[in-house]
Amino acid sequence: MINMKAFFTTLLFSLSALAVYAEADLPHHAIPGGIVSITLDQSGATAPTVLFQNKSAMTIQNAQGEWIAVIGVPLDQSSPIELAVNDKKISLPINDFPYEEQHIEIKEKRKVNPQKNDMTRISHEYNQMTPVYKSFNDGLANNWNSMLKPVDGPYSSAFGLKRFFNDQARKPHSGIDIAAPEGAPIKAPADGTIALTGDFFFNGNSVFIDHGQGLISMMCHLSRIDVKEGDVIKQGDLIGAVGKTGRATGPHLHWTVSLNNARVNPKLLLKKDDQLK
Ligand SMILES: [Zn+2]
Repeated sequence: MINMKAFFTTLLFSLSALAVYAEADLPHHAIPGGIVSITLDQSGATAPTVLFQNKSAMTIQNAQGEWIAVIGVPLDQSSPIELAVNDKKISLPINDFPYEEQHIEIKEKRKVNPQKNDMTRISHEYNQMTPVYKSFNDGLANNWNSMLKPVDGPYSSAFGLKRFFNDQARKPHSGIDIAAPEGAPIKAPADGTIALTGDFFFNGNSVFIDHGQGLISMMCHLSRIDVKEGDVIKQGDLIGAVGKTGRATGPHLHWTVSLNNARVNPKLLLKKDDQLK
């Protein structure tokens, strides 16, 4: 493998240099599962080509006309983020973050150690979900970084927890949980298009919303789905009801936010008022 750094100029952006964009309400948290907003020293009407992991990444423009790349940091990212911007290489260091462990007891053992026929179903579902997460459609929801909390209720499980089901290590918690009674209304956190709905082995009844430019919401464990694929929805529209379908110990909404196929902390995109309550 060629050391690309030897061939391109590497620009290191410090956190302090980016603070101005945090003030302008752009997310910036340079940790695994975070989102970084990087000013590109490019302006003009045409967006620069920005590639992260060889795929298109979100670009937005600030009031001064400068282009900014907004990148979801994968939970397993331990090296600097590397972007190709119009063929120029840019690098941003990522800090460690000590996500805590969570141990959960699941009574239905099959939801922890699936049977052979379950594995067939799980891999079919993976093949349905992956293209949604990898999709990139132009046109970004205006409210992409001022999302609504989709259901009323306390946060019951944090993003990024290192998870153990029946003492067996599994993937980290890729979203946040909000506890609410069965049947409580779930609202669209931001404008978008319904990209996929279905009843999935682990996630239960689920709705995928495409907010544009690789930003996807997934709502899981629903008791009822009120939208269908292709529906164009507005922030606050009813999309379904809280339930406990799939691998869930009780009724709650699991909400995943994915940017450039990286699961990120949804709280980074919530309206400030909704982050704590
Ligand atoms: Zn969850």
